[in-house]
Amino acid sequence: MDLYEYQGKELFRRFGIPVSEGRLATSPREAHDAAVDLGTPVVVKAQVLTGGRGKAGGIKLAATPAEAEHHAREILGMDIRGHVVRRLWIERASDIEREYYLSVTFDRGEKKALFMLTTEGGVDIEEVAVDRPEALARLHVDPLEGFQPYQARRLIYEAGISDPGEQKQIMQIVEKLYSAFVGCDAMLCEINPLIVTPAGEVRALDSKFTVDDNALFKHPDIADMRDPEAVPSEERFAREKGVTYVKLDGDVGVLGNGAGLSMSTVDVVNFVGGRPANFCDLGGGGDAEGVVDALEVITRDPQVRSIFFNIFGGITRCDEVARGILEALDRLDMSRYPIVVRLDGTNAAEGRAILAEAGNANIHPEATMLDGARRAVELAA
Ligand code: GDP
Ligand code: MN
Repeated sequence: MDLYEYQGKELFRRFGIPVSEGRLATSPREAHDAAVDLGTPVVVKAQVLTGGRGKAGGIKLAATPAEAEHHAREILGMDIRGHVVRRLWIERASDIEREYYLSVTFDRGEKKALFMLTTEGGVDIEEVAVDRPEALARLHVDPLEGFQPYQARRLIYEAGISDPGEQKQIMQIVEKLYSAFVGCDAMLCEINPLIVTPAGEVRALDSKFTVDDNALFKHPDIADMRDPEAVPSEERFAREKGVTYVKLDGDVGVLGNGAGLSMSTVDVVNFVGGRPANFCDLGGGGDAEGVVDALEVITRDPQVRSIFFNIFGGITRCDEVARGILEALDRLDMSRYPIVVRLDGTNAAEGRAILAEAGNANIHPEATMLDGARRAVELAA
């Protein structure tokens, strides 16, 4: 789960990482009052779950409360790379002398946490990594040994930070960031920029914080930070129905049983030149209820033109899935959608016989995954 900047900063604050004081605002009036409260100048910052807000015009300095209100009116409702701004973070403005970059994430290859630090912050870190890789200091932390202070010293030295005051503060920040990363079961904690003020104070000016979904049960307070409005409406509906669903951009609705088969199905649709509309895992069952729920979710996407059921019966029995599909078609109006069904594995012959007997012109049986994908792509055209 990705957190908004202000939520990440709240966690930073809890772990003792210095941040600026700020207030949340959802209207121009609240932005005005926050600016009065904080004292001007302030920065008005769009809260969206994507980066590059500054370049997109989502971050504006305001010298007076009236100006904060004016900027808030312009930024609220703005679309930043497909994310509509509904919340603003009003923060006491900082004077910036230098912008650094600090992050900790997983290096899956090394099976260790990886810190990255560079004095070339503020910009896209991917650009620094490509253009000036030597400017990016890296440090692995072994999860069994844990974090050792000498490691932070080495990281800071390698990044070329020589001012003793900065070194001392960044040492503390690195250590606290590691505590936040482990303590919150995060997958990424990124500070870009980590600023140095003219007075020599180091502070986190931005936050990108991603928490492992599978650990949220341990952190109910973080789980509560989720903004249901930030999730695409089809995905929200799927979550309500308990369907495992990810929306994609194509027109072939995909339904498999099991995450592996469903992902392979998405790949095969691509392979034969089609574009999958979604990933959807029917799970182990295949009963009518599950099929109805999944079809309801998939057909909410107006881009869907055909549907491909790709079922491999293991524990799941193909005859049961076939009955589930027929019952679902009785309950839902699916006449707009050609449905390709590939059944294989346990009781496949029985399943195919059931579909054949039903004689539904909407159903197009295919024997293999590849043929099924080809057919579904043709039918979507
Ligand atoms: P991003 O564009 O989404 O990464 O948003 P950031 O929070 O990183 O802000 C982008 C840029 O806006 C920063 O790199 C700063 O240059 C500038 N900025 C943000 N907050 C302040 C502030 O308090 N004072 C000043 N002078 N600039 C700021
Ligand atoms: Mn940033």
